[in-house]
Amino acid sequence: MVDLTRRFDVLVIGGGNAALCAAISARRAGASVLVLEGAPKFYRGGNTRHTRNMRCAHDAATEILTGPYTEEEFWKDLLLVTGGQTDEELARFMIHESKDILNWIVEQGVRWQPSLGGTLSLGRTNSFFLGGGRAMLNALYRTAEELGVDVLYDAEVIDLVIEDGMFLSAQLKQPVGGKTEVRASTLVAAAGGFEANIEWLKQYWGEAADNFLIRGTPYNRGAILKMLLAKGVQEIGDPTQCHAVAIDARAPKFDGGIITRHDSVVFGIVVNKHAERFYDEGEDIWPKRYAIWGRLVAAQPDQIAYIIFDSTVVTSFMPTLFPPIAGATIAELAGKLELDASALEKTITDFNAAVQPGTFDHTILDDCATQGITPPKTHWARKIETPPYLAYPVRPGITFTYLGTRVNKQSRMLMKDGKPSANMFAAGEIMAGNVLGKGYAAGIGMTIGSVFGRVAGREAAKNARN
Ligand SMILES: Cc1cc2nc3c(=O)[nH]c(=O)nc-3n(C[C@H](O)[C@H](O)[C@H](O)COP(=O)(O)OP(=O)(O)OC[C@H]3O[C@@H](n4cnc5c(N)ncnc54)[C@H](O)[C@@H]3O)c2cc1C
Repeated sequence: MVDLTRRFDVLVIGGGNAALCAAISARRAGASVLVLEGAPKFYRGGNTRHTRNMRCAHDAATEILTGPYTEEEFWKDLLLVTGGQTDEELARFMIHESKDILNWIVEQGVRWQPSLGGTLSLGRTNSFFLGGGRAMLNALYRTAEELGVDVLYDAEVIDLVIEDGMFLSAQLKQPVGGKTEVRASTLVAAAGGFEANIEWLKQYWGEAADNFLIRGTPYNRGAILKMLLAKGVQEIGDPTQCHAVAIDARAPKFDGGIITRHDSVVFGIVVNKHAERFYDEGEDIWPKRYAIWGRLVAAQPDQIAYIIFDSTVVTSFMPTLFPPIAGATIAELAGKLELDASALEKTITDFNAAVQPGTFDHTILDDCATQGITPPKTHWARKIETPPYLAYPVRPGITFTYLGTRVNKQSRMLMKDGKPSANMFAAGEIMAGNVLGKGYAAGIGMTIGSVFGRVAGREAAKNARN
């Protein structure tokens, strides 16, 4: 039984990658550490449970990475996807530190495996966790526990006592040994974003948010973020910005995970409920564009869209949990999707007529493009003409939000007056907006959590000693 009458050196709120990296790092630096995970043990680990890979800079190929990915190239990729909306100093710091994370995370028991194939093309840039995010988490928990980190599950924090930027204590929803107050010399907030809080999302998205599906944990409701911002911590990031992809409309409201994501957009066309195309499906290589489709679908009527393709491409992408809906004719498919058949027939006829000859290659920006239609499909455009015709219904799948707490290079939170907090640190999704003003490139979520988690734990331990 964890003794809550004592005062811990470092209190970590959250139970995902950022929290565990912080806890291990603080413990290795000599601090006593308590982790409060709001979820039950079976669901521990928030969105981290669903992950597959992490993006780290490296100067040469490794056992599992096919070639170098320099700091400069990583920085350029980040600049591109964020359109420059990133804190350059912090981002460059994170990229530099990511190099060392490749080894550090292995020292904490995590194992790598070679990249998965399909349309992801990440073999050079991203390292995949052997056994996926859950196995990665299990390794981190095992290491933390072996080092003597205390962990409480079902330990939802419902209040924080903070005075003049100084953390004093946290309040648990359910008592442990008769106590609900947890005291510690320093705080690491690693409690995720607010993506599972539909009411909060509605403040920015309106009623449309009712049609959003949340890809990960229902426990990331943003309570800690809200408390910190209310108690004087400086906020960073646009509240409407988030990582959102197109996921199967038949997926559950929460925790559908990776198997509900559709990577077939580049192989067909995407139409809205009026059977009209609305965006260039071939704009750029999929890992650089998959994360725009959640927002694009969110902007369509009733937040629903349909990826339409034909039988020639079914084996070209990673299959998902849900089978495609099939029709022997376009009209039959339209009927099953409850779309206007003549409108869908016209969209596909117009699209087919616009497709120009080219040499198809989905791994490069090929020369298969349309001419004379709006929006164009600028790469990978091929006629949809071989029955059966197939479709996936998709909705916005929210992965995580970017609004967060501002931090410096020590992962220390900054207060509204610009001064660093006396003893509060943040890592992971809760501060992702420092690096991600908008946009996303696959694997950065885990880089943010690992780098800033490690730093936050180390700095919190140092702070507690002083
Ligand atoms: C389906 C899916 C696939 C993904 N794949 C990848 C990938 O391959 N690579 C990648 O880089 N990123 C991926 N991501 C994003 C990645 O999951 C996140 O960026 C990362 O896991 C964030 O780690 P974190 O520790 O900050 O948050 P989380 O892992 O979400 O942990 C937050 C924790 O805080 C706890 N918590 C929340 N509120 C409270 C409270 N009040 N009291 C106590 N505890 C609380 C939660 O229970 C949870 O344990 C994916 C996300 C999803 C949903």
